[in-house]
Amino acid sequence: MTSIFTVFLASSMIMNVKGQKIDSLFPVRGLCIEAPVPAKVDSFITFINQELVPRKINTLILRVDYNYQFTSHPELRDTMPLSKSDVKKLVSVCRKNKIRLIPQINLLGHQSWASHLGKLLAAYPGFDETPHVVIPEKYVWPNSDGLYCKSYCPLHPQVHQVVFAVVDEVCDAFEADAFHAGMDEVFYLGDDQCPRCQGRDKAELFAGEVRTIRDHLAARGRELWIWGDRLLEGKTTGLGMWEASYNNTHRAIDMIPKDVFICDWHYERPDKTAVIFANKGLRVATSPWRIPGVTSQQVQDIADFRRDATPQVKNNYAGVVQTVWSAAIDFVRESYQNNLKGGQWASFVAMTDKMNELSK
Ligand SMILES: [Zn+2]
Repeated sequence: MTSIFTVFLASSMIMNVKGQKIDSLFPVRGLCIEAPVPAKVDSFITFINQELVPRKINTLILRVDYNYQFTSHPELRDTMPLSKSDVKKLVSVCRKNKIRLIPQINLLGHQSWASHLGKLLAAYPGFDETPHVVIPEKYVWPNSDGLYCKSYCPLHPQVHQVVFAVVDEVCDAFEADAFHAGMDEVFYLGDDQCPRCQGRDKAELFAGEVRTIRDHLAARGRELWIWGDRLLEGKTTGLGMWEASYNNTHRAIDMIPKDVFICDWHYERPDKTAVIFANKGLRVATSPWRIPGVTSQQVQDIADFRRDATPQVKNNYAGVVQTVWSAAIDFVRESYQNNLKGGQWASFVAMTDKMNELSK
């Protein structure tokens, strides 16, 4: 009897260990995607139930930006703003399925896109870091202004009062304990013509803005998440000016608070830069996009890094977050197509399949 009981006990322990294994191997299993437009919220909820839950996604970053019916700043509402009740439906399905829901609004950079000026600078042109750069009617890259996206001036005395009001409103609506501030691809920073920023150290300007946002969130019990590219050096590493920094912001990696969570995006190669962040004491999730073979390797890498790390560093390798750069509903539609060999959905399938395979 004793031996049967022992066998039973042992097998139930194995089952328990198995059940928890994916959590111990990949604490963060994420998807980062544009928030659905109001008319597609119900379809998106079906997608959460049918695709994200069975694939064991536990973190959903929704890029809301200004598509919310702000009451603090109605002038910042974008063209298809979610209502509070839309958001509550998303909160409810995520809570039920133990998915951490993290809203995103791009802060600092990405205040314009091609020929379109974003809501913040349209309503508050005084916040523009480079007011002398006119957005062209027909945008092309490269251009003589080096215009990719506009930034707000992090040292403008009124900018935080406005952006933190909308950040708080979105975080409250999403009942969020973390907020993603974007902060990727910030090319306009410390501009020579900005009366506040000219001549300042760009790494200090970047780190200062990270700290200001982090402190605001921490006072409300919330974590800050950002993209990692401004914290990596682009030239010696060969990573280039997009997924790493050519504008001397990379030293900010040693200046930002250690509780900022990094999403380390690399789309063409499985770059091992998570090792840099983790060994600096920062938690990091590798973020793939649309090449399934690269994605699969990135998942394997995180598992290997965790296995080989010191106990001090191991938990900084938090997991993997698939990024999606089309409209949310287009990704949902992609999910209905079988046997796609490449693209965002195939990458997402590769990520979740690999995580589940390694957790068996
Ligand atoms: Zn400035």
